[in-house]
Amino acid sequence: MPVHKVLVVGGGITGSVLSLALAQRGADVELVEISPQWFGVGHGITLQGNALKALRSVGVLERVLERAVPFDIMRLRRADGELIVQLDTPHTGGPDLPSTAGALRADLQGALCDAVFAHGVSVRLGLTIDRLDQSSDHVDVTFTDGSTGRYDLVVGADGINSRMRSLIGIAERPRPVGMSIFRVVAERPAEMDCAEVYYGGPRFKAGYSPISPDQCYAYLLDENLDASLVGPRAPLALMRERGAGYGGTWGRIVAALPDDTAVDYRWIEAVLVDEPWHRGRTMVIGDAAHACPPLIAQGAAMCMEDAVLLAELVTGDEPVEKALEHFMSRRLPRVRMVLENSLRLAEWEIHPGTPGADPARIMSETLQSLTAAA
Ligand SMILES: Cc1cc2nc3c(=O)[nH]c(=O)nc-3n(C[C@H](O)[C@H](O)[C@H](O)COP(=O)(O)OP(=O)(O)OC[C@H]3O[C@@H](n4cnc5c(N)ncnc54)[C@H](O)[C@@H]3O)c2cc1C
Repeated sequence: MPVHKVLVVGGGITGSVLSLALAQRGADVELVEISPQWFGVGHGITLQGNALKALRSVGVLERVLERAVPFDIMRLRRADGELIVQLDTPHTGGPDLPSTAGALRADLQGALCDAVFAHGVSVRLGLTIDRLDQSSDHVDVTFTDGSTGRYDLVVGADGINSRMRSLIGIAERPRPVGMSIFRVVAERPAEMDCAEVYYGGPRFKAGYSPISPDQCYAYLLDENLDASLVGPRAPLALMRERGAGYGGTWGRIVAALPDDTAVDYRWIEAVLVDEPWHRGRTMVIGDAAHACPPLIAQGAAMCMEDAVLLAELVTGDEPVEKALEHFMSRRLPRVRMVLENSLRLAEWEIHPGTPGADPARIMSETLQSLTAAA
């Protein structure tokens, strides 16, 4: 095996799936996570078939589906809630998996954390890298607590604002897309059986998805409001005010929220490292290498696919340099396609009436092309 001892920096979805996939292939894995507590944030996530396939490959799908809500359709509605169309959604993970599952992020991260511990990964919290020095056959790391380690490979999975990215000499930085999002977790209405999106209202769009037997998450995509509002406790009154004009189930969910509901508000950013993501034996993957606006709900799926493929290739027969080249040749075109199409969809939302805009076609072509293996 060309790579045995691996350091994973960041314990989100990408770092957790990577650690798990590597440990399952016999690698000696250490994970450092800067946060002193290791848990996922509260709101929801849409896991499409290719994400479910990645979770199955690391053995956590069954656990995730104990609480997540699978469905094979989605509905588009007008702002007042009237149904426009019900669509069958492509099975990007293959015909034997649901096309989609809605999950609470904390449930997903909980399943991943438990599996990471169960596979003997050494996890250190409240810690990160201070310094990296690499030679042709290893990387020496000094951590922020002064401890040191020597690794065959160091992988940054430290998210869109990755420090690893700059530490290894990659200059790309995230940029605002021109859209923001309000998100809340709410009680799941009895009639909610799949994700639904409301078009044609006063903002870019509104929607929701079931995420557990009794919870759903609802969102509103808006223009960028004052940056001081960004954070996990934006005013509910503001979400209600911005969402006025959306009726149906969305309107009822938001009207019924308790006044102390945690509203997450953030500007949406994007980044693509459109060149190799590795420098010698150091690299970034997941949102640290590519993050897209959530208009196709493929961000985490791309992260998990990175992690599963990287683990497979660096524990295979090829020398590490070849394995990383091979990885890039498979990942970059696929990730670039998802990112460019997500950005195009965002542009069309921001500039309605753009000649040639055809969101339904782009969405369907993207998901169809993802049915091919990662
Ligand atoms: C509004 C929104 C909605 C989305 N909805 C969906 C969706 O429905 N479906 C979907 O597939 N994708 C969705 N995505 C994308 C998805 O959330 C991300 O692609 C995914 O969570 C990225 O995972 P990650 O592990 O790469 O990064 P992160 O989740 O950012 O995790 C990075 C981890 O690294 C840690 N860290 C940070 N810096 C350091 C450091 N210096 N040292 C050590 N640790 C560090 C962090 O604490 C964190 O635990 C959405 C994204 C957004 C913004």
